[in-house]
Amino acid sequence: MSDAHRTTTPDGTVQGSDEQHDDAAGYYVDGEPIADTKAPGGPLAERWSTRQFDAKIVNPANRRKVSAIIVGTGLAGASAAATMGEAGYVVKNFCYQDSPRRAHSIAAQGGINAAKNYKGDGDSVHRLFYDTIKGGDYRSRESNVYRLAEVSVNIIDQCVAQGVPFAREYGGLLDNRSFGGVQVSRTFYARGQTGQQLLLGAYQALERQIAAGTVHCYTRHEMLELVIVDGRARGIIARDLVTGEIETHLADVVVLASGGYGNVFYLSTNAMNSNVTASWRAHRKGALMANPCYTQIHPTCIPVTGTHQSKLTLMSESLRNDGRIWVPKKKADCDKDPRDIAEDDRDYYLERIYPAFGNLVPRDIASRQAKNVCDEGRGVGPEVEGVRRGVYLDFSDAIERLGRPAIEAKYGNLFDMYARITGEDPYEVPMRIYPAVHYVMGGLWVDYDLQSTIPGLFVTGEANFSDHGANRLGASALMQGLADGYFVLPNTIRDYLSASPFEKVSEDHPAVVEAQQAVRERVDKFLSTNGTRSVDSYHRELGNIMWEYCGMERTADGLRKAIDLIRTLRQDFHRNVRVLGSGENINQSLEKAGRVADFFELGELMCIDALNRRESCGGHFRGESQTEDGEALRHDDQYAYVAAWAWPGQGEDGESLPPVLHKEHLNYEFTEMKQRSYK
Ligand SMILES: Cc1cc2nc3c(=O)[nH]c(=O)nc-3n(C[C@H](O)[C@H](O)[C@H](O)COP(=O)(O)OP(=O)(O)OC[C@H]3O[C@@H](n4cnc5c(N)ncnc54)[C@H](O)[C@@H]3O)c2cc1C
Repeated sequence: MSDAHRTTTPDGTVQGSDEQHDDAAGYYVDGEPIADTKAPGGPLAERWSTRQFDAKIVNPANRRKVSAIIVGTGLAGASAAATMGEAGYVVKNFCYQDSPRRAHSIAAQGGINAAKNYKGDGDSVHRLFYDTIKGGDYRSRESNVYRLAEVSVNIIDQCVAQGVPFAREYGGLLDNRSFGGVQVSRTFYARGQTGQQLLLGAYQALERQIAAGTVHCYTRHEMLELVIVDGRARGIIARDLVTGEIETHLADVVVLASGGYGNVFYLSTNAMNSNVTASWRAHRKGALMANPCYTQIHPTCIPVTGTHQSKLTLMSESLRNDGRIWVPKKKADCDKDPRDIAEDDRDYYLERIYPAFGNLVPRDIASRQAKNVCDEGRGVGPEVEGVRRGVYLDFSDAIERLGRPAIEAKYGNLFDMYARITGEDPYEVPMRIYPAVHYVMGGLWVDYDLQSTIPGLFVTGEANFSDHGANRLGASALMQGLADGYFVLPNTIRDYLSASPFEKVSEDHPAVVEAQQAVRERVDKFLSTNGTRSVDSYHRELGNIMWEYCGMERTADGLRKAIDLIRTLRQDFHRNVRVLGSGENINQSLEKAGRVADFFELGELMCIDALNRRESCGGHFRGESQTEDGEALRHDDQYAYVAAWAWPGQGEDGESLPPVLHKEHLNYEFTEMKQRSYK
C-alpha cells in the first residue's frame, strides 16, 4: 500500500482535497484509494458463477500437498475447516476453547435467513439482496450481498442434510418467522437455539474430517502472532493455554475466522472471551481494518442492573414477532406495576412512529428510539446511576390471541432464561429490555475472494467486514458465516492455492524467529510489569469510555475526548497492570492482558473512524447529522466509501502514529441509494 499523499491540518482544512472540513483532521493521514478487484462485472446474478468458473482449480491429488491454518471453530471456521478437509486439503484448526463446540456461535438464538420463499409471501434472492443493502444503509457492496442472498438457499439444504432440527410446521414443512427490517418471513430457526443446532451440524462435519485425518484440531490454543514470509501469510504463533508453550505452526495459507470484537465495550452480549487479538495482530502486520466504528447495538437485551456486571444477556429479536414494545406516556407512571397502566396511557412508540414496520424495524432504529424515550425520562425498571434504562416488551396481547401454549412452543427457552436471570415471570409481567452491544460490522478488509490485503491471509465470518454495511439485519450473521465457510471460501481460496507448491518455510526462517520472539517479549512484559491494577478494571474503564462516547450516539467533541482518555489509560495500563502467576501454565489474567492491550489500540481506531465519518448511517449515529425528526442522516456525496485503515507502526516512545485511511468507493449499479424509511 503506498504512502499517504494527503494531509490534514489541526484546524480541519484538508490539503489536496475538495473537502473543506474534516472532524478527524490531525488524527490520521490519507492513503491511496483501494478497490475490490476480484468481483467480476456484468449482470449481478451471474457474478458468483463467473467467479467460481474463473477461479483456478487445485486437482485432488495436489490438494493433499497443500496445507491451511484456520483460526476459529465457530460457524465460519468449523464450516470452512470441514469443507476444506472434505476437499482433501491438510487443515490445522485452532480455537481457545476446550472444544470447537464452545465457540461463541453456540449462543446464537433467533435464526438464520434464507431466500427460500417457503411462505409464498413474495420473497426472492433479489428481495433478500435488496433488504440487506437497504438494511446496511447503503454502505455494503452489491456483488457481495447478492452472492450472500444467492448462497443462502444452499445453506438451509446443507444444514437439513446434516440433520439440523429446524422448527417445522404441523404438516412437516420447515417453518419461518420474521426478523427486523423486512416484511416477509424468511428466518429459519430451532426454537431459541439456532446457533447451537447449526454449530452441532458443522461440528459433526468437522469431527468426521478429524477422524478421517484431514483436519487436526488444536483446542485451548491462542493465536498471538501472524507469520509473514516474503509478503505472504505463512503461519501463526500460538500459545498452548494449558502448558504455556509458545508454538509455531506453518502452512501455505492462513484463514482467520476468529469472530467479532464487541467486547471492546466490556459489557456486551458476546461470549466473555471474544476478542480482537487474531485480527489485530494481522492488522499490525499489514491487513487493513475496515469500518471499525460500525457497531451493532441490539435493542432487546436484559437491562444493566448495576456496576457489578461483566456480561449482558440477549433476548432474541424473534421476540419482536409477537411482543409489543412500549413505555408509559407519563413519567409519573414509570414506577407503577405495568399491568396497572391503562391501555390509553401506554406509548407503543415503534408502532406509532413506524406504522409500516412497527416493532420489526431494524435494530439500529429500535435501539435509538429506546434510548430516546429513556432520555426523555420515560424508561422503566430500577434506576441505575439515576436513570431508568428499560422499556417493556409485552406478550399479553399475543398470549390472549394465540394462547400460552403457542407462545411457550415458540419462545419457551427464552422466557425461562429471562425468568431465571431477572426473577420475574414474563408470561405474567412484561419483560424489560434495553439496547446493548451485540455485533460488529467492522472487521478486516477483504476482497470478493475473502482475501485480506496480505496475500494468503483470508478472513471469514464476523471477523471480516464484508457484507452487512453499516447495520446488520437480524439472522444474517449465521447466514454469512456459513455462506463464507461452506460455499464461498472453499471456492475462492483454490484460486490462490493453485499457485502451489509454495516454497517451504522452516522454523528457523528469520521471519518466523522474529514472530516467536515478539510473542515471548510481550508475554514477559506483562508478567514483569508488577503493577497494582487488575486487567479487568482497565477493561471495564475502557468499555465505559467506548460506550459513553463511541456507543449509540457519537459527537465530534465526545470522540476527541474519548481518544484522549483512551491514550492516557493505555499508557497507565502498560505501566501499572498487575498480571500474577507465570507463563508456564493456565493463566487467565495473562490471556486477558494481551487481549485488553489490543482492545486499547482498536478502541482508539474506532473513535478515529467514527470521527472521520461525519454522517449517521446504520449503527453509526453522529449527533451532528440527523433529520429534523431525529432520524439518521447519511451524506452519500461524501461518505459512500468503505474506510479501510492501515496500521502506521509505532513511534520511538511506543505511541502509535496516525493511521492511514484508504477509501474504497461504493458503487451502486442495481439499487438506488435512498434515505431509509420504515414508516
Ligand atoms: C447472544 C447472541 C445471539 C445471536 N443470535 C444470532 C442469531 O440468532 N442469528 C444470527 O444470524 N446471528 C446471531 N448472533 C451473531 C452470531 O452469533 C455471530 O456473529 C456468529 O456466530 C459469529 O461466528 P464466527 O464463526 O464468525 O465467530 P465465533 O463463533 O465468535 O467463533 C470465533 C472462533 O475463533 C476462535 N478464536 C478467536 N480468536 C482466536 C485466537 N486468537 N486464537 C485461536 N482461536 C481464536 C474462537 O476460539 C472461536 O472458535 C448472535 C450473537 C450473540 C452474541
